[in-house]
Amino acid sequence: YSIADWAKIDQYHNSFLIAEDEVLDLAVKNCSDHGLPCIAVSPSQGKLLNLVAQSIGAKRILEVGTLGGYSSIWLGRALPDDGTLVTLEIDEKHAQVAKENLAKAGLEDKCKVIIGPASESMENLHPDVPFDLIFIDADKASYPKYFTEAKRLVKKGGVILFDNVVLFCLVNDLSVTDHFLLDTYLLGIRQLLADLKADKEVEATTIATVGERGLDGFLYAVRK
Ligand code: SAM
Repeated sequence: YSIADWAKIDQYHNSFLIAEDEVLDLAVKNCSDHGLPCIAVSPSQGKLLNLVAQSIGAKRILEVGTLGGYSSIWLGRALPDDGTLVTLEIDEKHAQVAKENLAKAGLEDKCKVIIGPASESMENLHPDVPFDLIFIDADKASYPKYFTEAKRLVKKGGVILFDNVVLFCLVNDLSVTDHFLLDTYLLGIRQLLADLKADKEVEATTIATVGERGLDGFLYAVRK
């Protein structure tokens, strides 16, 4: 099977489960018009994020890696009227496009985009009330650092979700020697897994996914 085949899984299932959505379509178009890479979560993954947030009654959500705000819209829509989403992005252009898309989605009052390296932005966060849900989807080399900060910022019983932990089976392929792949993606995720193994305060599992974004996976962690 190839990505083209896996994309058909999404097309088929989405045709039953995910309604046409002009706001999200416009957000995707705005991202591509501004030359942003097509690396947002897929519609089915975005809806999963939305459903997770709704299921746990999330009122405060932190997102690490905004891009053009596609996943932020899915998450923001799950919030109650008094809910808030804070989303962290290093790239000013990405953040600007995200702000436009969040405004068009009517979410500008609930969603705050913080520009800067996410590790610093996270260190600077000292919320009075901890987050219910933290979605981590930025540079993979920093995943161990993001996990450390997320553990500090999430409430007991709260959820930390990481995207892209499978990466076309490259993470578990210990024969890979390409330094770029190792340094940019693989070592960070492998270190995260090792940290989780040693961590007594978090329970986690990886769910591999296939679909229009290829073969990848979410890691779902709960702070005990
Ligand atoms: N969550 C987005 C979605 O699904 O719509 C996709 C996020 S994209 C995969 C990753 C984003 O993380 C990019 O916009 C990139 O600029 C940002 N990023 C990369 N390194 C970062 C860092 N050190 N701090 C903050 N953001 C970073």
